[in-house]
Amino acid sequence: MNFQELNLSAPILRAITDSGYTQPTPIQQQAIPYVLDGKDIIGCAQTGTGKTAAFAIPMLELLSRKRNDLRCIRALIITPTRELAIQISENVTAYGKYLKLKHTCIFGGVPQGKQVSAIRSGADILVATPGRLLDLMQQGLADISKIEILVLDEADRMLDMGFIRDVKKIIARVPAKRQTLFFSATMPAEIKELTRTLLHQPAEVSVTPVSSTVKKINQSVVFVEKGDKAATLIRVLKDSTITRSLVFTRTKHGADKLVKQLAQTGIYAAAIHGNKSQNARQKALLDFRHSHIRVLVATDIAARGIDIDELPHVVNYELPNVPETYVHRIGRTGRAGAAGTAISFCDTEEKTDLRAIQKLIGFTVPVQTIPR
Ligand code: AMP
Repeated sequence: MNFQELNLSAPILRAITDSGYTQPTPIQQQAIPYVLDGKDIIGCAQTGTGKTAAFAIPMLELLSRKRNDLRCIRALIITPTRELAIQISENVTAYGKYLKLKHTCIFGGVPQGKQVSAIRSGADILVATPGRLLDLMQQGLADISKIEILVLDEADRMLDMGFIRDVKKIIARVPAKRQTLFFSATMPAEIKELTRTLLHQPAEVSVTPVSSTVKKINQSVVFVEKGDKAATLIRVLKDSTITRSLVFTRTKHGADKLVKQLAQTGIYAAAIHGNKSQNARQKALLDFRHSHIRVLVATDIAARGIDIDELPHVVNYELPNVPETYVHRIGRTGRAGAAGTAISFCDTEEKTDLRAIQKLIGFTVPVQTIPR
């Protein structure tokens, strides 16, 4: 199935193409038609499955189909953490870039002034963490009484983090006649109960949890200090049986620097990240796909659209601070039963990230040493 078959309008399809997506993920294939049909849904899916687009794309489509000249918040997305709120907001920006809809993102831990002005200047879509939203509502600064679409993202995490009471208070203020899209990776009893009260004849969509899909990948971790990472990677890449390796860095600058360091030892690589033009990214991808270069260095955002069938080797040059990103990165290897290897470099500062990753995937990644 491709996105064209999903009954989406041209501006959205164009934005999806710009994001580099070629095919809807399973959760998108399942959820998008229901949402476009106006149905409530319960989505059982974790981060890394493409669930954000599964609700954001049809939400944008519905809002843009039905013009509304009143300046009011028409869609509300509630999510547990600031990082998720920002990520969702970035996705909405990407998929809605050719539409006239405005959105804004609010979360706690920062002064409220700018967020309040953004809401005042008119937002069709509000992405929010529960505490800050409730706070602004109680001050009379956020009006959610005209919501047409309500999205609850990572409901189980909101429960774990003690936000469920806030969430219930918020929901009590949105119109009863609305469309509700409910996402949770797991369905504990309290969450099930919540769905019973919130949703109207929901369609259920689910995909296998991401953490279980990584088990077949041969993973290892190499403890190495920051200053030794480049030299260690060069030693790893000396192994000529590695025909293609996708290397993840946290920053664009880090990606560029690494490409230069590799080139100095005769390993030709290309970097893809947000500062590169679409053409440069395209060329790098083609060179990689056609084996003109063995190594592609990417940041997470730029790597989103990479869809290469045979990707035997992934290196986490730097560990991500969001554990799900690890799963998503290494999930690019070992697809469809093929053998895949994922090596992660971990320096002293990254040990906390490693612990969070191991907690998510449910096992301790074996330690490997790279001989000098
Ligand atoms: P999510 O599960 O929403 O956190 O998405 C995980 C990652 O998959 C994000 O980096 C998305 O940009 C990316 N993504 C979402 N949908 C697609 C798609 N259809 N094709 C390729 N990548 C996608």
